[in-house]
Amino acid sequence: MPPLPDPHPVPSEDLDRLLSAGLESRRRDQLYRSRVVLGSPQGPEVLVDGQRYLGFCSNDYLGLAADPRVRDAWCEAARQYGVGSGASHLIVGHAQPHHALEEELAAFLGTERTLLFSTGYMANLGIVSALAGRQDELFEDRLNHASLIDAALLSRARLRRYPHADGAALAELLAQSRSRRKLVLTDGVFSMDGDVAPLPRLLAAAAANGAWLVVDDAHGIGVLGATGRGTLEHHHLQSTQVPVLMGTLGKALGTFGAFVAGTETLVETLIQQARSYIYTTALPPALAAASRMSLRIAQEESWRRDKLQDLVEQFRNGARQIGLSLGGSATPIQPLILGANDKALGAARALRRRGILVSPIRPPTVPAGRARLRLTFTAAHESTHVERLLIALEEVFPCP
Ligand SMILES: *Cc1c(COP(=O)(O)O)cnc(C)c1O
Repeated sequence: MPPLPDPHPVPSEDLDRLLSAGLESRRRDQLYRSRVVLGSPQGPEVLVDGQRYLGFCSNDYLGLAADPRVRDAWCEAARQYGVGSGASHLIVGHAQPHHALEEELAAFLGTERTLLFSTGYMANLGIVSALAGRQDELFEDRLNHASLIDAALLSRARLRRYPHADGAALAELLAQSRSRRKLVLTDGVFSMDGDVAPLPRLLAAAAANGAWLVVDDAHGIGVLGATGRGTLEHHHLQSTQVPVLMGTLGKALGTFGAFVAGTETLVETLIQQARSYIYTTALPPALAAASRMSLRIAQEESWRRDKLQDLVEQFRNGARQIGLSLGGSATPIQPLILGANDKALGAARALRRRGILVSPIRPPTVPAGRARLRLTFTAAHESTHVERLLIALEEVFPCP
């Protein structure tokens, strides 16, 4: 028998040495990320390390994440259905609350069908890989959410990026394409900038060039439009005018999960072909029951959208008065673009010392040199909260 090779160093030590170098370089570039540990429910005031902070960083736009009615719906359904779904939707994990939620979402949006996914990330992977393959071409806005980019990579279709919100550039790229199938993918509301995609122009470009539009409305559903149908309603479009609409439940609806809305044929195709739908455990049924309740509240309590809009206006007016330069966003996502990574980190730390929690956003979530504070507002905030934020911002960014 040949002798055994020399003993190697413990493999995990080798790997750790390699990884440490990577972490160190992240730290040097001010790109290191760490988590705050929340000790309270989501809300305008949160507990971190035993300290109370006024928070402006959640996506709980309608203030429903800790709503007692949503919580009670969850508890009641957990008593009836237990906790785990026990299987994927196609095996035996698809329960009545899931099915009812799908029907109610379709009625809300005015589409034939909807299909629940475990997360928005998985919904995007499922949509793109079911609808596009090697011979096809995808057209994406430069500032699209990472999940839409990853979906494109997974599908192996050819990926083209067009300049942000530029319908004319998109039309040109589409006209050059010889591909059999073309999909245009866009955020409805851009997650880090808060601006709204020019859907009518994108639709026109797509229609003129035989392409289909896919809208990821994670930040629009529940928030935009008189009845909260999202970016489409904001543009006075019917849901049936966009072939594929994706929305999430973990943001304005305050729960967890996502859905795709479209025709019967689209949804049946996704059920057959979307791997991120087929090969994963179904959401807990009680979670679907909680989402049904929050969908009902989001429809009935339109004051939440009105209040949110008032708070955003109050913030924008106040920020202008203290000389802060904001972008053009009219949604609850209000970025304060600072440029360098250390500026965003420093500003977040200075606000935190003043009892205010905001998230610094750095590359690769945003382009290099465009680090920012991403401030978000919710219907659970009060006007006095916005005042406190403005006072703190004035101290951190004194007028030149
Ligand atoms: C948050 C987000 C997603 C992912 O949704 P999850 O349910 O959190 O996985 C997808 N697209 C956009 C634009 C988002 O902001």
